[in-house]
Amino acid sequence: MAGLTANTSVSSSELNHEKRTRSNSSGTASTPSSSFDYAPGDADDSSGSRVAVPYSLKSVEALLSLSKTATLDDLTEMVEKCKQMVLESDQCTEERKWLVRRLIELRLRAQELRETSDVSSLETQVILGHHLVPQKYQISSSGPVYCDHCSAAIWLMLQSWYMCNDCGYCCHWKCITDIRRVCANVVASEAGGYIFTKEICPEKGLSAQLYRCAECHTKITFTITKGLSLPCFGSPFRQTESAWVEPRLCDYTGLYFCQRCHWNTPAVIPARVIRNWDLDPRKVSRSASQLLGLLNERPVLPLEELNPKLFTLVPDLSLLKRLREELQMMKKYLVFCPDADFQGLPWRAGLRNHMIENSGNYSMKDLIDLQNGVLMEEIRVAYDAMRNHITESCELCYARGHLCEICGNDEVIFPWDASAVCCHQCNAVHHRVCWSKRNHCCPKCARIKKRLTKEIENCQSDQEDST
Ligand SMILES: [Zn+2]
Ligand SMILES: [Zn+2]
Ligand SMILES: [Zn+2]
Ligand SMILES: [Zn+2]
Ligand SMILES: [Zn+2]
Ligand SMILES: [Zn+2]
Repeated sequence: MAGLTANTSVSSSELNHEKRTRSNSSGTASTPSSSFDYAPGDADDSSGSRVAVPYSLKSVEALLSLSKTATLDDLTEMVEKCKQMVLESDQCTEERKWLVRRLIELRLRAQELRETSDVSSLETQVILGHHLVPQKYQISSSGPVYCDHCSAAIWLMLQSWYMCNDCGYCCHWKCITDIRRVCANVVASEAGGYIFTKEICPEKGLSAQLYRCAECHTKITFTITKGLSLPCFGSPFRQTESAWVEPRLCDYTGLYFCQRCHWNTPAVIPARVIRNWDLDPRKVSRSASQLLGLLNERPVLPLEELNPKLFTLVPDLSLLKRLREELQMMKKYLVFCPDADFQGLPWRAGLRNHMIENSGNYSMKDLIDLQNGVLMEEIRVAYDAMRNHITESCELCYARGHLCEICGNDEVIFPWDASAVCCHQCNAVHHRVCWSKRNHCCPKCARIKKRLTKEIENCQSDQEDST
């Protein structure tokens, strides 16, 4: 019977295949792809529940139930029963397939119970900055979950596992003592954001890493490992006997990793965007992927400081910059208006807050969303709602509009109007045309200046009188 779990391979090859071909919708959790990394038990999270029970086994299913309340004794008894049924079933039938699968699941659950029984309650563990929260038999909604330590699948329904609240690092209960990766949240806060914003893939080469994985220090090399290159039947490069210990380059850090620490996760690379406006995803290591994922929505990129040329080369970017400045002008009106506050303006206008909080910083998500049109749509909706409130629906805000002092026209103008211009010193607003005619001289500033010199003169004459 010992061979049952190892050799029957109910569908382990099929499952591995399914795992490799499944594309992940979120795009963040790519899957490790080295097939020899997996124990036969590795599979997706279906854990039997998605495999239809053959009709003739409907009654048996209740007897071999994977209920969460089953004790170790129950499970041991069920394992024995199930084994017997497998032996009695006909070969190559749906019944046998289902029974074998259930047997593996029962054994895993029993093993899990045995391993975790000495821990009375699984508590949040703090390791290398991670806050690992126990996830006993939790089903995740975003597809299969893989262990960030051993890269094997986690059987969500059968195994206890941990997930870091801060960076999303996941691992088996049994892998927790071997964690080597520092939490991406710690790395990000120590660096104050991205480390590599200027250098694109700062590769130093494998020899600089002494031919070892940058994270776990496993030996990696582009040559074939000896033991596996022995003569064998058929091609020595058959996929199932892949002998390459493949170093994988992380495009963010420029370092090489082994396959357990680098799952070929695609990610948009900050330095490539900042230097070249290149938003094509590149393959990165797990640690980089977690860091990039964590920082994705944080406005930590002072883009204009990092590369001022980008704003002249990317028209959308200069438009975005102008719209942000205009939104911030409108914000000054809205924050003093109780009606606007009631309507949720400006803070609940559906806009990412940093768009109206400062004009200089961008997040990676902003830049990606600018490229795909999402951000502009978001800004247009918020922009219209804010402008409509001020110029059309609210008397209070409208009353704070300006009249052009140069021409004396009674048309109300606002600093963000295309036809208006705002004096940087006194904030008075004038028609752009009038402003040009006046050689960019602000009448209000001139008046203030005149009054000041007069006051100084008066002061001086007062002093002369008193002496
Ligand atoms: Zn973490
Ligand atoms: Zn693991
Ligand atoms: Zn490694
Ligand atoms: Zn208002
Ligand atoms: Zn005017
Ligand atoms: Zn002025």
